[in-house]
Amino acid sequence: MPEEADVELELRLESVMEGALVSGTVQAPFTGECARCLDPIEDDVLVDLQELYSYSDKDDPEAEEDGLFVVDELIDLEQPVRDAVVLALPLAPVCREDCPGLCSVCGARLEDDPSHQHEATDPRWAALAELLADDSNESGSSGAGPTEEI
Ligand SMILES: [Zn+2]
Ligand SMILES: [Zn+2]
Repeated sequence: MPEEADVELELRLESVMEGALVSGTVQAPFTGECARCLDPIEDDVLVDLQELYSYSDKDDPEAEEDGLFVVDELIDLEQPVRDAVVLALPLAPVCREDCPGLCSVCGARLEDDPSHQHEATDPRWAALAELLADDSNESGSSGAGPTEEI
């Protein structure tokens, strides 16, 4: 995510017993790579955000260190917004739902060439094909494996 990119916040602040409740949506742009074809992607994520900021009680030794607090009548939105956006980012974004991705053999973009395929199969399959061919050549023998006549 670009640092401090155009993150749009639409938040409501409510005063509640324990502190301040912030709720609303966060929209943030992200850039990435299509998990299938590696094309660059630019998109937005839209996240619902709801956080409770407690009135800090500095005298309370039990107070959670990593909680969110109202400090001097102010709240710090940066961390929760950042966390929410990071969580909302797709793990494997795709440029579009039906992206055909890349050819697993040569890496060509299948989108550019939908009929793309290879005559020569995977080398492992080629080896198997050879084995099968050998087998059929010896089909007339006893089947006890290759024998040599002296
Ligand atoms: Zn793609
Ligand atoms: Zn290919």
